[in-house]
Amino acid sequence: MELYNSLIKDTQAFLAKGSPKVWDYSERDCWTDIGSSELVMQRDAAYELGASGKGSANYVLFTSDADLVNRDQVLLYGPDLKEIRSDTDFARIVLLRVGVLDDDNEKVYRILKDIEFAKYHVYPEGYMVRISPENYREQIRVSKQAIKRGISFRSIGSSYIKAYKKDINVLNATVIFVTAPGYDYTGMKDTAKKANDITNTLTTILEGLPTDCSVCSLKGICDEVEGMKELHFGVGAKGAEKGHDH
Ligand code: SF4
Repeated sequence: MELYNSLIKDTQAFLAKGSPKVWDYSERDCWTDIGSSELVMQRDAAYELGASGKGSANYVLFTSDADLVNRDQVLLYGPDLKEIRSDTDFARIVLLRVGVLDDDNEKVYRILKDIEFAKYHVYPEGYMVRISPENYREQIRVSKQAIKRGISFRSIGSSYIKAYKKDINVLNATVIFVTAPGYDYTGMKDTAKKANDITNTLTTILEGLPTDCSVCSLKGICDEVEGMKELHFGVGAKGAEKGHDH
């Protein structure tokens, strides 16, 4: 699973100028999960993260390379929840090391999708998540009550890690939060789009659609992402046999 490796490196480059707070994962740090989404009313909110007009990005990247992801950790670049006073920029990036998933591509795709859906199963108390998959943003409304009770990125990140690690294919999960101004949130959002393009291209490949790169609408992404064409013609060996250009 190397398809996302270059995006992991891009992400490291976005963050290179900062020095994060780092916490090793421990299940006992998880925040209270209320099991279903909670409506935090505006009047009860302390502030919003990634609100409209602010930077916001959200994505998950997969790898099987232990040099890139090898810890269960929460990283924070910027102020923590109790230090934030007003609406602020926000990115949540998840890096997952998965078991080597290189043989059955249909299975790989399903596994990746299942893992990604874990994010819809985290319901921290006083932390209302609104995800806009179509523009790769995530907006959070944090309640004043949760701040009083001591909510932190360490606890929220731990809750996400716990959810991701429920899937046996996830070997390590690193959750990164960015709240400081001055980071390249637009670049991160572009990376989120690319990650999504890769996952969608996997679907198209699995549906066995185009097999001629010269006329394929996905050529842009396949040219850019190492391993994509190999993946297609590994799956669609029939396409390669027919002598298609790739
Ligand atoms: S490998 Fe070629 S045919 Fe397959 S999706 Fe990519 S560009 Fe299209």
